[in-house]
Amino acid sequence: MIEKQRSFLDVPSSDPDDARRRRLLNILLVALTVVSLLTSVIALFSPDAASSLAMLGLGLSIANGIIYLINRFYSGPLAAGIFLVMLTLIISFGDEPVEVVQGRTLFFLSFPIIVGSILMKPTASFWVAVLISLVSAALAVAAAVPVNLVAIMGFFTVAFGSWLSAKTLQTALVDLRSINRELDERVEARTYELAEANDRLTELDQLKSKFVSEVSHELRTPVSNLMIYLDILELENQPEQRTTYLSVLREETNRLTQLVNDVLDISHLDLGVYSRSETEQIDLNTVIEKQVASLLVRAGVLGIKLDLKLSDQPVNVRGNNEQITRVVSNLLGNAIKYTEKGSIEVATSVEGDRVVLEINDTGMGIAPNDLDHIFERFYRGENVSQSTIPGTGLGLAIAHEIVESLGGRVQIDSHVGAGTQVTVQFPISAEG
Ligand code: ADP
Repeated sequence: MIEKQRSFLDVPSSDPDDARRRRLLNILLVALTVVSLLTSVIALFSPDAASSLAMLGLGLSIANGIIYLINRFYSGPLAAGIFLVMLTLIISFGDEPVEVVQGRTLFFLSFPIIVGSILMKPTASFWVAVLISLVSAALAVAAAVPVNLVAIMGFFTVAFGSWLSAKTLQTALVDLRSINRELDERVEARTYELAEANDRLTELDQLKSKFVSEVSHELRTPVSNLMIYLDILELENQPEQRTTYLSVLREETNRLTQLVNDVLDISHLDLGVYSRSETEQIDLNTVIEKQVASLLVRAGVLGIKLDLKLSDQPVNVRGNNEQITRVVSNLLGNAIKYTEKGSIEVATSVEGDRVVLEINDTGMGIAPNDLDHIFERFYRGENVSQSTIPGTGLGLAIAHEIVESLGGRVQIDSHVGAGTQVTVQFPISAEG
């Protein structure tokens, strides 16, 4: 919060009402001091110089100064009390007693009552009215005139009016302050939210730039390989090498297609295309059977045994068929890709309110250091860094993001040289 510039009129106080009243008293003191000093000067320089008036003006200015010091450094209510008593006395003894009790000065006596409710608590107006009534009665007795009861009633009427307006003002100020506080809190909360959103946007922007640079980097290798082999095909006249070059070209094209598909998937995930698409009840066993069927030939060629242990119970999950198929194909594809010999076992089961998919392979396994990063986009493990196994480093990231968006979990346990176990849990879809 910005600290308001303090002037000599302001009094630092933790209570805003107290600060407001003390500031008002200071303003009144300054105004009265200016009037007193002017009166003194005029009195001194007037032809019929009235030195007593000049002295009175000076004395009043000094009294104002003392009240200011009390108000500023000691106590607001005490200073206001002294000021009101002083004001009452000046008005009461500044004119003939008769004039004060029932004449021209009567009207001025209302002034301390009104000021009292402003400078002190609203009820102060009644105390000042009592004081003024007592002074008025004493003056009446001294001047041997009847006590002015009508005027005393008038003092209390003014006190009541002052009390009412001061009270209303105080309530309004309290309400205003609480609204202000609420607004402050809201502004603070909104500012915090905006700052957070801004941080998030900056983070997303950085991620986007990183993603674009990684995609470009990944695209460069297959594209330059394609260009090199096309050049070789064009320039070299060696028909016996043609088949080799063509198969490299096919491989690179496949790699490029895979990369483009993966990038498209990632961008669909980022744009929330999947989460907004219609979901349906999907039988996980059916998806697995279809995927396994398409991989059987490849597994057979590689000499890998593919075992299916599918649950007899319905293993229905809610999602989008394309998404679930993508998860299964990425995980099964990895199992085949990273298993040189041995077997792959695919099992489904129901555990409570979860459908569990387990893929076990006896492949090369993942190094412990890699396990922490395995779901990061474009991350490829050290087991592939020295090999020629193709990949984009996006398959697990895609599978992981899809499963999490469906409320599920993916877990990987692996031992180098022994194999890998991927466990996926989906929330079960209980619809009939
Ligand atoms: P990639 O295109 O490299 O296969 P993925 O995101 O699918 O990308 O996998 C990330 C990395 O995780 C792989 O590069 C590999 O190091 C490791 N990995 C994934 N699945 C297996 C597995 N079944 N066996 C051994 N390593 C695996």
